[in-house]
Amino acid sequence: MASTFYNEVLTDHNINPTHKHTLPDANFKLQGVNPSCGDDITLNLKVEDGIIVDGSYEGVGCAISQASADMMLDLVIGKTKEEALKLSDTFMRMIKSSVTEDELDSLEEASILQDISHMPARVKCAVLGWRTLDEILNK
Ligand code: ZN
Repeated sequence: MASTFYNEVLTDHNINPTHKHTLPDANFKLQGVNPSCGDDITLNLKVEDGIIVDGSYEGVGCAISQASADMMLDLVIGKTKEEALKLSDTFMRMIKSSVTEDELDSLEEASILQDISHMPARVKCAVLGWRTLDEILNK
C-alpha cells in the first residue's frame, strides 16, 4: 500500500508538476547539480520582506529529484525564510537520521520521501532541491 501511494505521488508530481516553469520576476536563482545521477535543476525564488512569495524550478533529473523539488515548493511558498530553513533542516534530518512525528507532519506530502533514507544512492536526488534552497536562503 505505502509503496503504491509513494509511486503514485512521485508519478503525479512528474507528470503534472505545479512549480516547474520559468519565473521571470525571481530575485534569487541558483543551479543545483547531482552528478552521480545527472540531476540538474535551477531553483528560482522571489523573496520579499523575508517571505518567499513565489518560486519555481527548471531543469532535468530523475523522478525523485523532480518530485522532491515540486513538493518542496508546495511547502515553502508563502513561508518566511526562517520557516523554510526550519523545514529544510527537518527534511535533511528525516533523510539522514530521524525526526519526531510532529516534525514529519510538518513536511506534509514531502514526508513520503522518508524511505529514501534506506536507499543511499537516491539520497542526493531527494535532497537536491532542499540543498539548493538552503544555499540561497543562507546567502
Ligand atoms: Zn536523481
